[in-house]
Amino acid sequence: MKIGNGYDVHRLVPGRMLVLGGVEIPFVKGLLGHSDADVLLHAIMDALLGAAALGDIGLLFPDTDERYKGISSLELLEQVYEKLLQKGYVVSNLDATVIAQQPKLRPYIDAMREKIAGALHTSIENISVKATTEEGLGFTGSGEGIAASAVCLIESLYEASAAVPLDCAACSGCAKGMAGSR
Ligand code: MG
Repeated sequence: MKIGNGYDVHRLVPGRMLVLGGVEIPFVKGLLGHSDADVLLHAIMDALLGAAALGDIGLLFPDTDERYKGISSLELLEQVYEKLLQKGYVVSNLDATVIAQQPKLRPYIDAMREKIAGALHTSIENISVKATTEEGLGFTGSGEGIAASAVCLIESLYEASAAVPLDCAACSGCAKGMAGSR
């Protein structure tokens, strides 16, 4: 089992759609960035990549690359999922916090959890998204920007399959079955 953490900040500007956790949120401003600037998914991707020691999203999806201009960060999260899977990892659980003075995010939290769980092919029970303000202080308090942080645990496919109480006599396809037959 491995742990990772991620942190990101984007500037709030007029004339952009606000997208957080893959969900479009009605607001007078949106986040500025090369992609859709989904600060929550960026922090989550950095946490996942960090746990697997695979670098960060700046390395994987450079903002100088035209392929990523305006791209949905959910698509990038899918790609991060694939990268982890290639390394033999799946997500155990993930806990993220969005730091924004406005808008109120509570009505959108479960929709975000659903989108994130879908991209990571895991249960919504494994995905926690929280929102807080910084009491009017600093750049989030003044509404200049939104920040997000995330921590995650990932586990190897072996660990994940060994935790499932399968009847190995009926199946030889998982890592637990293979270990038992050695
Ligand atoms: Mg970012």
